[in-house]
Amino acid sequence: MTNLSSLYQDVILEHNRSPRNFRRMDQADRHATGHNPLCGDQLTVWLKLDGDVVSDVSFEGSGCAISKASASLMTTAVRGKPRGEIERLFQRFHDVVTGQQPRAGEESADLGKLAVFAGISTFPVRVKCATLSWHALRAALEQEAASVTTE
Ligand code: ZN
Repeated sequence: MTNLSSLYQDVILEHNRSPRNFRRMDQADRHATGHNPLCGDQLTVWLKLDGDVVSDVSFEGSGCAISKASASLMTTAVRGKPRGEIERLFQRFHDVVTGQQPRAGEESADLGKLAVFAGISTFPVRVKCATLSWHALRAALEQEAASVTTE
């Protein structure tokens, strides 16, 4: 487990230091802002849609290392994927960070590097940090409110 937790730390710290796709998107089709009052994280996610596929995605904001690293990894994981696949990925990711076993049919969603957040399940207060950018992404995809909160 020592190796796993140091891998987890390395990936999170590296993505916090140099987050991927960390920029405003001027020509975005949609955007939504997520706010986690428990920790003070606030992130905005922008995306471009090509039919059903998220062709580009970016984020900006301020927050703890976990929220930022998770947003960074989220953008690299969902780019180029159709909405259905992104939804399956989110469900799987959500189960992993909350320490639940995969539900039927979810094993197929390959988390890749997102799996480093499995360690979060032992810190329940951090789960909202890790899922914040995903909630903002889903709000943008569903084009509901332009702002979501984890509360
Ligand atoms: Zn946080």
